[in-house]
Amino acid sequence: MENRTLTEHANALRTKEYSSVELTRHLLDRIHSNSRLNSFVTVTAKQALKQAERADRQIARGDGGSLTGIPLVHKDLFCTEGVLTTCGSRILENFISPYSATVVERLEEAGMVMLGKTNMDEFAMGSSTENSHYGPTLNPWNHDRVPGGSSGGSAAAVAARLAPVATGSDTGGSIRQPAAFCGLSGIKPSYGRVSRYGMIAFASSLDQGGVMAASVEDCAHVLKGMSGFDEQDSTSINRPVPDYTAALSDSIAGKVIGLPREFFSSGVDEDVAKTVGEAVSVFKKLGARTVEVDLPNSAAGIPCYYVLAPAEASSNLARFDGVRYGHRAADYTDIIDMYETTRAEGFGPEVKRRIMIGAYALSIGYFEAYYIKAQKLRRLIADDFARAFETCDAIAGPTTPTTAFRIGQKTDDPVQMYLNDIFTNSANLAGLPAMSVPAGFDRKGLPVGLHLIGRYLDESTLLNLGHQYQLNTDWHRRVPKGYA
Ligand code: GLN
Repeated sequence: MENRTLTEHANALRTKEYSSVELTRHLLDRIHSNSRLNSFVTVTAKQALKQAERADRQIARGDGGSLTGIPLVHKDLFCTEGVLTTCGSRILENFISPYSATVVERLEEAGMVMLGKTNMDEFAMGSSTENSHYGPTLNPWNHDRVPGGSSGGSAAAVAARLAPVATGSDTGGSIRQPAAFCGLSGIKPSYGRVSRYGMIAFASSLDQGGVMAASVEDCAHVLKGMSGFDEQDSTSINRPVPDYTAALSDSIAGKVIGLPREFFSSGVDEDVAKTVGEAVSVFKKLGARTVEVDLPNSAAGIPCYYVLAPAEASSNLARFDGVRYGHRAADYTDIIDMYETTRAEGFGPEVKRRIMIGAYALSIGYFEAYYIKAQKLRRLIADDFARAFETCDAIAGPTTPTTAFRIGQKTDDPVQMYLNDIFTNSANLAGLPAMSVPAGFDRKGLPVGLHLIGRYLDESTLLNLGHQYQLNTDWHRRVPKGYA
């Protein structure tokens, strides 16, 4: 049952092959028996069964939609009314959200069933889910490896077939990188496409909610359900949402795929480069054309991101002071001591590092040299993409320079960890949609991700390319051993 796609589940529910309650029970059992993956912070079994019963009644009445009765999991930074929302942090270990994020609300209204909240790097800062207060998540493909991050719990849960779909958030690659490491399809839409209301902020000008699933088609269905204008988010885009599922079956003949020299340079693992090359040749076989494009400022992506994201984080995280919500230190002498002790106890080392870097970059003496300079670089990076998209419809490359690394391999070296985002974070800096699609395996049997970046608000082209690729390959159907 757990190996079906979302569309197959929807059909089975409609034809009464099984009910949403049966499917939900089955997945809750799987979550329970695979708890060593540590992919969940909270499992919401009772609430899930109630939602499933409601969905079954709706389907019986004949008024269910394509998502009705389909189970999903949410990354633990989406606020969920009445449910613990930790953001992977000790500082929110007791935070029961009084309201739900727009994304959560919309998918609930569409009839989806929430199974639980997934583990993540604290405040979405990380590339391995090792920065969680709740312990690391394991990669179902190899338990000694990380699932990627920061949405690693979501990725591991879907890869292990504990849920057909999961939400994630992507500030610099946190949907695409774990999708790549776990053999999934994952899309980060254009900035402003999906509401950030109720999504705990990391770096507000970069954060974007999105989705991971076994197939691109499944992503398209859920993305359609979660996208669209929201007046509660001032950066939400007030433009109609295209029917993402309608474009999937279009031919890709004549589409032009840009290959940036910078994405195929040294530093990319040999197996990864080879696999991505083979994926590109599938597109060519389907009638697409390739052109070389230049992204001359791409080397500035990492330094630019790692000034701007911490700067915004240092400001966003100022709200966690022990006064309004979350953890508060038990022992303190006065209010200043209360703030300091609460934050010292509540935040982990990576979050503290980012707050310090960010506060430094924003300080009077260094603001021009770091923050303003990084903003200028951000513009140059966006301009590079605009120029490249004059000659192509989508840009392809590897999602990550390597496949999943060993647990503990990079925890002592933050810069090595940051370098994982080398291909992903420029799409966030430029606000562009981007997607990772499973494209094969390396010699160690670990999944490799193909990365596609699109024009602003052109999610449809990415989904179309990804779906056509999946009609002609079967990498996305592979399930890690022991989880089939
Ligand atoms: N790895 C990046 C970071 O640590 C990206 C995280 C994300 O996209 N949330 O900032």
